[in-house]
Amino acid sequence: MMNSHLPPPAHPSRTLGSYLWPRRIGRRLGLGFGSLVVLMLLALLNASAPLRAVTQATEHFASVDMRRLLRVQALSLQIEGVGSALVRLMNAPRDNRVAEYADVDARNRLIDGIIESLNTELHDSTQEQTLQRLTACRTLYAAAFIATVDEVEAEDLVTAAKVLNEQINPSLKAMLAESNALLNRERERIETQLEESQQLMHRIAVTAGAFSVLVVLLAALLAWRITKSVVTPLAQLEAAALRIASGDYATPVLATSAEEVDRVGQALTMMTGAIATRELEIERLAFHDPLTDLPNRTSLLQSGAAPLGAPPQIPACHSLLLFDLARLKVINETLGFGTGDTMIKEVARRAQTVLADFSAPNTRLANVSGGMFAIVFESGEHSLTEQLHQRLVDAMAQPVHCGDHSVDLSLVFGLADSPPGTTTPVIALLRNAEVALDVAKSTAQGFAWYNPAQEAARLSHLGLLSDLRTAVAESQLQMWLQPKFSLQTGAAVGAEALVRWQHPQRGFISPAEFVPFAEQTGAITLITDWMLAQAVRTLQDWQHSHPHLSISVNISTRDLQDPAFFQRVTQLIQAHGTPAHKLRLEIVESGLMQDAQSSIALLQRLRDQGVELSIDDFGTGYSSLAYLQRLPVSELKIDRSFVTDIDTKPGSQQLAKTMIEMGHGMDLLVTAEGIETDAERATLQKLGCDVMQGYFGSRPLFGPALQAWLDKAESKNL
Ligand code: C2E
Ligand code: MG
Ligand code: MG
Repeated sequence: MMNSHLPPPAHPSRTLGSYLWPRRIGRRLGLGFGSLVVLMLLALLNASAPLRAVTQATEHFASVDMRRLLRVQALSLQIEGVGSALVRLMNAPRDNRVAEYADVDARNRLIDGIIESLNTELHDSTQEQTLQRLTACRTLYAAAFIATVDEVEAEDLVTAAKVLNEQINPSLKAMLAESNALLNRERERIETQLEESQQLMHRIAVTAGAFSVLVVLLAALLAWRITKSVVTPLAQLEAAALRIASGDYATPVLATSAEEVDRVGQALTMMTGAIATRELEIERLAFHDPLTDLPNRTSLLQSGAAPLGAPPQIPACHSLLLFDLARLKVINETLGFGTGDTMIKEVARRAQTVLADFSAPNTRLANVSGGMFAIVFESGEHSLTEQLHQRLVDAMAQPVHCGDHSVDLSLVFGLADSPPGTTTPVIALLRNAEVALDVAKSTAQGFAWYNPAQEAARLSHLGLLSDLRTAVAESQLQMWLQPKFSLQTGAAVGAEALVRWQHPQRGFISPAEFVPFAEQTGAITLITDWMLAQAVRTLQDWQHSHPHLSISVNISTRDLQDPAFFQRVTQLIQAHGTPAHKLRLEIVESGLMQDAQSSIALLQRLRDQGVELSIDDFGTGYSSLAYLQRLPVSELKIDRSFVTDIDTKPGSQQLAKTMIEMGHGMDLLVTAEGIETDAERATLQKLGCDVMQGYFGSRPLFGPALQAWLDKAESKNL
């Protein structure tokens, strides 16, 4: 399993460079934005000092300079005004002089007050000197004013006018000149200050602008650098992801300059490894049989896994040998799937051992399905294939030990090869070998070669179909009876009805040849009806001579699917007055599995009428024991393949024993088919089997031979 935790990223030793340009994107962004904030602060700081100076200068200008200027202006006005007030005083009638005095005094006080305040406010040496001169003139004016007032009070207005003209007016003029000088000087100072403020403001604007441009440039540079440092590793990562998507798992995801991206890269590398591992596993599962670890059918047909997206390669070959582990189903059912698996693995192991010593080019072994294997190789020689077949048969001779049991390995072979000097696609060879394997199974031979004649034989069945209808109509069919004997008493208990066809042109045709074909086409119902009629009539004949004998008739799946079948059987029985329990119907195990629900319903109805039912060829089908328990059958017929050589095969004995015990457990009569020797009979008798059928007891009989046997049976019973 993939570790879900990523390894901690390696921390390279910290250098000055790594501090200036850290590997982590987060730090880079922090550094970038931090730098911008610092630059902005610097810009603010840079502008704040001059701005404060301008603000102070403006405040000073408004609160000090302008007030002083106004005061100096007021001084000039008062100096001008006092001259006029003195003239009014001199010209005023005596009674009005008090008011004029008050006006002149008020002005003089105002002038003195302004001079006094200017004395403390002026710090300019030029202005101070001017103010001193003004103060001196004020002293002269004060003396002249007193002299003038004395003359006015003495009513000597002529002298008073003279003092006014000669002393007061010149001193006032001098004061006014100094006052104006003060005013001008103040104006100049203010203008200079204004100019300086303007220059300062201009400087601030220029500096702030330059700084702002610098900050913007730096910000742009940082943004570009950081963006690039994020985008470039991401682009590398994207390229790596696309590489992985295209199936390139080998090229590693390279380290980038960004730590976070590297983490994603590491995760991607781990993910790639996990995907590659899983893909290999999927491929292994898709092209290998998990039990034997051999290539499977797909692999055999495609020459292994084709690259992703590429069309599968269809290989061609010379020879193909297909072999199937017989009776696997019943081994699974009776001895368990574990035993079945052990057998399959053992076949695979032994086949591999055989192939290790087999020298043919490009030999490949595959597990095609379940217990079926195929070997292909490049050699068109029949003899080599047969040699391999024989070696495999020899290799499988020893039984397999599974726990307490030892089970025989029995293989059936289908062999196919290409016409001399050519190769055939493996798929076609496999199909041919499957046909041959079917033939080998149906003829109960251990192996069969495929030949085109088999194909022709199949085609000739088509001709047989129309002939079969004539055969039924013209009584070319015969019912042969094969006796069945009790294994306990040796007495005959009944017979199985077996159809025979004497074709006017082809001669005798084996039921193995036409029955399966008739089943496929549906013509089997004609045979069943004919055989049933014969059997019921015979039972009617035997009612007095052989009342204890029953007759078994083979019926097919098609009959079970026919809704009118039940009625035909019951009508026949009633028409001939035959006891229903003397008629047995045999159904092959595999036939019972098709359309199971309706089959059970029909069988139950027949059973209710008293007709006995048997499971034929038991052990060759795929029915589960649980399912068989639900069937209303009364007899179980063990297939011949389990009986042949049972006396020498402990594995077959084990299987037969299990089947017999199972049958008895379900209250069934157990019959063994195909007993050919006394040893087989004795073994089955010892195992507790109830009834035997086979060449050892009697071959199927017809005509005089049947009559002779019946006579003998009758005499035995008397
Ligand atoms: P089956 O029902 O299992 O019949 C037993 C077959 O085994 C018969 O072959 C019989 O002749 C053969 N046999 C009996 N004892 C021995 C023995 O000791 N050794 C060997 N080697 N063979 C033995 P047959 O008559 O060729 O029939 C083959 C199959 O054809 C039958 O197998 C049955 O499935 C089918 N069949 C025969 N007659 C009919 C029929 O009337 N209707 C249907 N539906 N099928 C039939
Ligand atoms: Mg039968
Ligand atoms: Mg049978």
